[in-house]
Amino acid sequence: MLPTSEPMPELPEVRALAERLDVAVAGQLLVDVTVPGFSGLKTVAPSPSALIGSALTSVRSCGKYLVFDFDEHGRALVHLGNSGRLDIERPAKSTRPRGSLVRFQFEDGGLLVREHGTERRAGLWVLEHLDDGPLAAIGPEPFDEDFQQLVLHGGDERRLHTMLRDQRTVAGIGRGYADDVLHRARLSPFGALSRLDDEARQRLLDASRDVLDEALGRERRRTGGLSDASLGDRFSIHRRAGASCPRCSRRLERVSYESNDIVYCPDCQTKGKVLADRRLSRLLR
Ligand SMILES: [Zn+2]
Repeated sequence: MLPTSEPMPELPEVRALAERLDVAVAGQLLVDVTVPGFSGLKTVAPSPSALIGSALTSVRSCGKYLVFDFDEHGRALVHLGNSGRLDIERPAKSTRPRGSLVRFQFEDGGLLVREHGTERRAGLWVLEHLDDGPLAAIGPEPFDEDFQQLVLHGGDERRLHTMLRDQRTVAGIGRGYADDVLHRARLSPFGALSRLDDEARQRLLDASRDVLDEALGRERRRTGGLSDASLGDRFSIHRRAGASCPRCSRRLERVSYESNDIVYCPDCQTKGKVLADRRLSRLLR
């Protein structure tokens, strides 16, 4: 079955959203918090209500997580999963739309995290002050020095598409921007870092940063929350199999791997070779 869900918000969408939320609600006292989607709550203690009455110091992003810091009172993390969205409400509402995960009510307005469709992969973590929770396990962001070291000197032997999507290796890239980054770098999704020469490594580093930086620039023009079911055609090749390569006009191909549909250009990325679809070949056997 082909994936039908909307590609998840990745670093550009989450970081630009965090910037808008910081402007909208940082500095305000948390008046109430309700968690209608209890299955999305990933922590047992402290309780979300422990945050009530404290001031939201800042909102920032870390990889695909939104980080809400409440002074010394604690911290809340939100991961939007594939189809999670966030509405800024002025004033805060009390309705509970289907798929509601959490509503933060501040002095002036509220934030509602909810999920479109039936998939339930968004999550809320409530942590003690300075507890990193799941952030402790994620890797550097593409703009960090540590990522540069890894790309220029690392010996990772996994397929590049797998490596880029592994949040423990680099935080913030998902299946969408992984396609676009590898296309920009003119590298096969099935290639491996350990087999790249210095010039190809530099291309991968530059492409990772350029693609995300350009996407961040576009996302910064968005206003309000991140409410729409569809986040728009924000990719240059992801989800565009069958269309023409924006660089060379060849037909973009798709290959299924690890329950992802990877899109690539054979001429730009794989020396003209069409990658074997393992799932398809298994079916045909
Ligand atoms: Zn091409």
